[in-house]
Amino acid sequence: MLPVTAPRSEPADAQPTLLRRAFVFDAATRTFVPGRDILLEGGRVARVGEDIDAPGARVVDCGGLYAIPGLIDCHVHITSSGEPGAMNYAAREPLPLRAWRAGEYARRTLHAGFTTVRDLGAADRLNVDLARAIDEGLVEGPRVLAAGLGVTMTGGHGHGFIAREADGPDEVRKAVREQLRAGATTVKLFASGGVMTPGVDPRSPSLTEEELRAGVEEAHKAFRVVGAHAQSTEGIKNAVRAGVDSIEHGVWLDGEAIELMAERGTYLVATLTAPYHIAHGGLEAGIPPFMVDKAHQVLEDHFASFKAAVAGGVRVAMGTDQGTPLSRPGENAQEIVRIAEQGLSNAGALLAATAWAADLLNIEAGRLEAGKAADIVILRGDPLADISILTDQSCIAGVIKAGRDVRLEIAGTASGGTT
Ligand SMILES: [Zn+2]
Repeated sequence: MLPVTAPRSEPADAQPTLLRRAFVFDAATRTFVPGRDILLEGGRVARVGEDIDAPGARVVDCGGLYAIPGLIDCHVHITSSGEPGAMNYAAREPLPLRAWRAGEYARRTLHAGFTTVRDLGAADRLNVDLARAIDEGLVEGPRVLAAGLGVTMTGGHGHGFIAREADGPDEVRKAVREQLRAGATTVKLFASGGVMTPGVDPRSPSLTEEELRAGVEEAHKAFRVVGAHAQSTEGIKNAVRAGVDSIEHGVWLDGEAIELMAERGTYLVATLTAPYHIAHGGLEAGIPPFMVDKAHQVLEDHFASFKAAVAGGVRVAMGTDQGTPLSRPGENAQEIVRIAEQGLSNAGALLAATAWAADLLNIEAGRLEAGKAADIVILRGDPLADISILTDQSCIAGVIKAGRDVRLEIAGTASGGTT
């Protein structure tokens, strides 16, 4: 597929920046290479190496600090606060109010080190407009690949809040085309029931393989990556056979599903955080009882499926389902910790939130290499030794998006020359 979702045009007029003598994460060897310089120019990484000479560049001394690529969350609902009920009842609030709030959620997400997110469904397609506002520099936030509304069957999961209903291959085709017309840069299809819609069983498949295939065809024709919400075993297999790029959730994976995914290179975006919070936060937090019951149903099997998929060689990319109850913007990194604990290792989890996520989304980011987006997080500690530092705001010394400072708290920053 062509790199159509590459970072969109960002202003390239920022002064070049030279990050001096950091430990730099190398995706290929899964290690930090000490004493490396990174030169950022025109919104991209220009060079990574030793003792780079860059006259005129701003120099930032990163001695003792760890540089990783900007984090990527492949499954968010960034226009949602993560308060219980926020997603389901969003459309009852005035759109301008929701838009202003969404701007704040985007800011929090970016400041937490997430420089790219994929938004898989928002009421009124607010995600598409938010992506545009960020691109125009009106709102501070990550790059947003936005699906607009997801596409679900009549009465299927997501209907009435983040999805448009469609039945039969032709209607699914049309529904996908509508999202693209509205400016969607990624596509979401629903292949099974789910936890958050009343009366819908997550164990049941929804759009048929034929319907899913029509949706995938339209998306791929426009070079858009397709994520399929799929929890039931049959729904997962339907989606994989239909050619989707990622399975979202993947609660009930059996041996055949794992083999199919590994063989076809279908990514798993597990979102373990979503049912975890719903089940543990529970009724006390005001989450509707029907959701809590269903989250308990899925939790154990979900974690077991994730472990089996990792062991079975399925590609993994990190996604939180931020916006679901108690999964708040800016707290996205907890999923990285969760997948590390569930069999991926610290290095694997970091890759799932950087290089592998970029591979799934087909974007030029996620690796600290020449030509990739100059999206960088600078850490005060080594995340391979303790991955949970990613969830600790005080461990973040800097966030840079497209070569521009989002936050930079490093003492001794010098300007205008070499050292
Ligand atoms: Zn979701």
